[in-house]
Amino acid sequence: MIFGATGDLAIRKLFPSLYRLFERGRLKKFAVIGVARRPLTNDGFQKSVKDSVINALGDKENIDEFISYFYYHSHDVTDSSSYVALRNLANQIDENYNLEGNRIFYLAMAPEFFGPIALHLKSDGLTEVKGFKRLVIEKPFGKSLESAKELNQQIRTAFSEEEVYRIDHYLGKEMVRNIEVIRFANAIFEPLWNNRYISNIQITSSEILGVEERGRYYETSGALRDMVQNHMMQMVALLAMEPPIRLTTDEVRSEKVRVFRSLRRVESNEINDYFVRGQYGAGTVTDEQVPEYRAEPMVDKESNTETFVAGKIMIDNFRWAGVPFYIRTGKRMTTKSTKIVVQFKDIPMNLYYQPEKKVNPNLLVIHIQPEEGITLHLNAKKAGGHLDAQEVKLSFANTGIQAMNTPEGYEKLLYDCLRGDATNFTHWDEVAYSWAFVDKISDVWENTKSVNFPNYVSGTTGPKAADELLEKDGFFWWPVKNLEVDICK
Ligand code: NAD
Repeated sequence: MIFGATGDLAIRKLFPSLYRLFERGRLKKFAVIGVARRPLTNDGFQKSVKDSVINALGDKENIDEFISYFYYHSHDVTDSSSYVALRNLANQIDENYNLEGNRIFYLAMAPEFFGPIALHLKSDGLTEVKGFKRLVIEKPFGKSLESAKELNQQIRTAFSEEEVYRIDHYLGKEMVRNIEVIRFANAIFEPLWNNRYISNIQITSSEILGVEERGRYYETSGALRDMVQNHMMQMVALLAMEPPIRLTTDEVRSEKVRVFRSLRRVESNEINDYFVRGQYGAGTVTDEQVPEYRAEPMVDKESNTETFVAGKIMIDNFRWAGVPFYIRTGKRMTTKSTKIVVQFKDIPMNLYYQPEKKVNPNLLVIHIQPEEGITLHLNAKKAGGHLDAQEVKLSFANTGIQAMNTPEGYEKLLYDCLRGDATNFTHWDEVAYSWAFVDKISDVWENTKSVNFPNYVSGTTGPKAADELLEKDGFFWWPVKNLEVDICK
């Protein structure tokens, strides 16, 4: 059952992902009920599913068979009376398709509806099933620890923690899932993966786009809640966690939670030493003139919402004490790119050192998007010539046919949910710890009136203070553009 079945997420991501699962034979006994407010017939709904798949994936021979599994129920989720009709339809379909009472509820709707829908699902009997019941819930999960707790309580009256699948679509990305494999399946990395050999880790997730039509939502969120609390913190946890005893959901989650528990608590008066916020001004992005954030639709003319965050996160445990994890995310930046750069420490004595030419540190770059792959930066001798050390890059790229066949993040997450594997969804404890961490920052920022926004020009790498954050530790952001070159070919 997809709530919000006429919305952007359903059309752009969920229907094409379901089709891919169907095409690969991973959806055998199933039917989908689309739920949304707009009046629509089953035929009309099936046509929109067909258009969505064809737009995303091109013409498909068996598309008519696929859409025959789709049903539509026009329903205002705030209206109690229509849940009974929905329950009857679901029971009928369950019987017709012999679905054994297994039911997944996907909430692809605005977050204010999450709690009320969960409560109704229970009170109107939709969760009374013979088989399994699972709730898939989109971000954002609350706006603070307080509101997340309230939402969680409402959900938990109808579903147990094991039945709740909180989506963080970064955890569906191929290379984010690869972090664990790179770390735990290679003898050459794990022994070095600590404060003796790593000097710092940089995670950048930048966008070229501005806020577009999402101004209303973004004004209540900002980059900190929209990107840092979930996606960036999840990547930090995967990079920093101890090897789990096994790759089971509980073991992986408990190691991630231990990372969150080790995060250095930054006092209110120190927040601005660790975190930098920014908001884009007008500028030029890919040769086009773009307006400042404050001039975007549905944005307050004096808005203090941040469209950029950079931060230094310290993990005070034995493995990571002293190693900064720098994160950076923003809109209207130079490139669209998500990358992780692991910078290793300089060797103790460098025989190739020349005052005018420093030997580069070793880097392991994990390219999350748009390119997918890894690059290891080493030093080697130039062919011929002197014994000069020069940087060489070993690259692995998911390109060409391999990348085309890489399932979309949502496809993998939907498949995980169908199989009951919750490893790549966020547990309540992870949500709670990362909100507690982020709340400290937003409390300070929201209570500081004087902000010099806008403080970065669209089409740049963000405010100057973000560079200074690293400079004061003797580091600099590895320029994302330079790291891209090889892997794009
Ligand atoms: P949307 O505004 O495009 O769609 C909302 C859907 O909810 C529509 O189908 C609408 O008919 C339905 N709806 C609204 N009010 C209703 C009511 N009272 N009763 C019944 N149906 C109602 O939103 P979206 O972009 O698809 O986003 C949905 C959720 O997914 C949000 O939580 C969003 O934060 C999250 N999300 C979206 C994207 C994306 O790419 N669009 C990405 C990540 C997360």
